[in-house]
Amino acid sequence: MSQTMSGFCHPFAAPGNWYRGNLHLHTTASDGRRTPRAAAAWYRAHGYDFVAVTDHDALIPVAGLAQPGFLVLPGMEVHPGRTELGEPYHVVAVGLRREAAVARESDVQQAIDALRDAGAFVWLAHPHWLGLTLLELARLRGYAGLEVYNTTCARFAKGLGAAQWDDLLARGRLLWGLAVDDTHWEGRDWGRGWVMVKATELTPEAIVEALAAGRFYATQGPEIYEVTVASQELYVRCSPVQSITCVSLAGWGSYALAPARGPLLTEARFPLRHERVYLRVECSDSRGRTAWSQPVML
Ligand SMILES: [Zn+2]
Ligand SMILES: [Zn+2]
Repeated sequence: MSQTMSGFCHPFAAPGNWYRGNLHLHTTASDGRRTPRAAAAWYRAHGYDFVAVTDHDALIPVAGLAQPGFLVLPGMEVHPGRTELGEPYHVVAVGLRREAAVARESDVQQAIDALRDAGAFVWLAHPHWLGLTLLELARLRGYAGLEVYNTTCARFAKGLGAAQWDDLLARGRLLWGLAVDDTHWEGRDWGRGWVMVKATELTPEAIVEALAAGRFYATQGPEIYEVTVASQELYVRCSPVQSITCVSLAGWGSYALAPARGPLLTEARFPLRHERVYLRVECSDSRGRTAWSQPVML
């Protein structure tokens, strides 16, 4: 077993607690329709342990929004430079310890580097919606992952980023997948995509450290309880679902389906014969909602 594979078992076996969070949302500080206080209140009232406020080009103070047992991370979504299609980039950063100077005329790579220097966890938002190409995704460095699901972009049938994620994983780039709402408080774009983070405590430092290490999974509802890569076998345990899929390079990979009239699946075992380069797990329930594990490089 490689270091990467043994490291991947860690989120599920590690001590700590699972914390539910939405890492991407907008408020009246940019183009969202609810105030920061109302935004945080909605998530707190609906079973979330933390949110990040990520307004466009604005790092707003969030210290006054936290409540006992509920964390609000500072963050921002910035738009430096232009994509290959001529659109502004959408780069999201949470957990900044200080301001980072990122202007719209900045170079996107320099912006990513500046945000990381400010202590942030940094990723590229909604790759399908934005039309990011594999060439630019592969060229950029220093971002931790991609949004595999974005609720607000799903309204435009461009919410998924799994194809872009797989294209990069297939080329050996270990990147994390995030599910987020990107809430603007329009079209019911809230409460439909989140991350479950395994951290030792509910503090900005512990959450950002766990995110950076990939100790989380992304979901629209299903829960993943265990993903273990043993010598020749992948074992998955989850809440009741219709299908459990082991995703890998091109046409490699495996899947398990619940029988048509039988019980739903709560676990699956896959002999690792049909996987190449990387694997990751998707668990999809009878309502079409999916949970995505982080990938393992083989
Ligand atoms: Zn965006
Ligand atoms: Zn956004």
